[in-house]
Amino acid sequence: MAAHTKKTCASCGRTLSIRAYYRAGEYRRFTLCRQCYRANQRARYWRDVNLSRLRGRANRANYRAAVYGRPGRITAADLAFLLELSGGKCHYCHADLADGFQIDHKLALSRPGSMNTLSNLAICCPACNRQKFTALPIEFIERRQQAERQAA
Ligand SMILES: [Zn+2]
Ligand SMILES: [Zn+2]
Repeated sequence: MAAHTKKTCASCGRTLSIRAYYRAGEYRRFTLCRQCYRANQRARYWRDVNLSRLRGRANRANYRAAVYGRPGRITAADLAFLLELSGGKCHYCHADLADGFQIDHKLALSRPGSMNTLSNLAICCPACNRQKFTALPIEFIERRQQAERQAA
């Protein structure tokens, strides 16, 4: 059995004792060491969680668009792309979005001509989304600058 006591991990390339493999008793089935296997599972878990959450967000946006009769349809992949593009920062105030984000239709769905398409979407923080509401991005930014001038 000496030949089977070590095995090379297909991910990290380390040659390790079979005890380092996920479930030593069934080590033949596992090509990754326990450490890599777990890292892999975690990554897959987060990808699935994120995608299913994004799917939920996309579905809600699509539903709201349908209520307003606006054309277009967005997917979880669209949102993942936008999130990546945002660099994890709010489109309007550049706040960190680690604590949550919202999907803003730049031209609000309630406004004529609005579309439920990637080009009309921005990722923003909950506060900006609430304050902007149905305003145009430019109106929102002007309003905020005005408030900042008054506060100064
Ligand atoms: Zn490994
Ligand atoms: Zn913001």
